[in-house]
Amino acid sequence: MMVLICHEKGNILFDLGCHPDAGKKGYWPDRVWKAERYFHEPEQELEAQLALCGVTPADIDTVVLSHLHEDHTGNARLFPHAALYAPKNEYLDAMWSVCTNPDTGYVKAEVTAPYREVHLIDRDFELLPGIEIVNLPGHTNGLLGMVLHTEKDGVLIFPQDAVFCEESYGPPARLPGGFEDSVACLASIEKVRRLQVQYGATVFFGHDPENFPKYRHAPAFYE
Ligand SMILES: [Zn+2]
Repeated sequence: MMVLICHEKGNILFDLGCHPDAGKKGYWPDRVWKAERYFHEPEQELEAQLALCGVTPADIDTVVLSHLHEDHTGNARLFPHAALYAPKNEYLDAMWSVCTNPDTGYVKAEVTAPYREVHLIDRDFELLPGIEIVNLPGHTNGLLGMVLHTEKDGVLIFPQDAVFCEESYGPPARLPGGFEDSVACLASIEKVRRLQVQYGATVFFGHDPENFPKYRHAPAFYE
């Protein structure tokens, strides 16, 4: 799931989806290709979705990556002019991995893509008024979620792969298919639940084909 936030201080993109060629053999490392397949229509690609909102990649000031898996970094090549915020431990793990192993679980060109500046995050903080970044490790060694405070639609929480789908969320929380630290993974799900209760928030599940059609999609929006 990719989220565009049009804030009065700039446009922010949360996660970068899959590369348009990700469905073709040879683009992803073999290890990823054996585990996953990407099927999509051209109108689902990032630039087409941004265009529905009247936005081009050049209009994006800030990119936030939840983590560096290939289905979240696919369009990194489009944002050399943007500032990047990424989870510190996961960014360093991914960078190490692509520089030491040709058949890694990450895509080297995407992990090493240049940005205007890079901020590595290992604490919770307010990116801009109304936009909280929260650390939710477990699925990967570091993972960033986003809490958006909107004027009309309340508080929206995007935990991305920290809470794969509604089934993982429970309660009780269940481990998603892939994780690096099971204890941290379950603790992060409970952290999301505390935030949801605290704010009366809506939680969006990033890998949930049953819930995905219920969300508003570009050009519709939350405000
Ligand atoms: Zn992931």
